[in-house]
Amino acid sequence: MKLETISKTGYDLCINCGKETKYLANTPIAERYNYVKDAGQLCDDCYIQIYGTEIKPLWERRKRILGIQKEIKETCGVLKW
Ligand SMILES: [Zn+2]
Repeated sequence: MKLETISKTGYDLCINCGKETKYLANTPIAERYNYVKDAGQLCDDCYIQIYGTEIKPLWERRKRILGIQKEIKETCGVLKW
């Protein structure tokens, strides 16, 4: 399992510096910025430091779109696309 990544107040901690991020632990990944697949949540500062930009990579934007579609399906029940 992972190391402790959630603060006492229920927010995800940055996996790099351990600072509390603005995301509650139960925030869907699709709704987050600065989230690294298979690693975890980074704070804004670390994300910029590591990736050199705040702009999310394409795969993450795609994942966000897929996440929204999934959410719509779950909310509306059976939907034909
Ligand atoms: Zn950080």
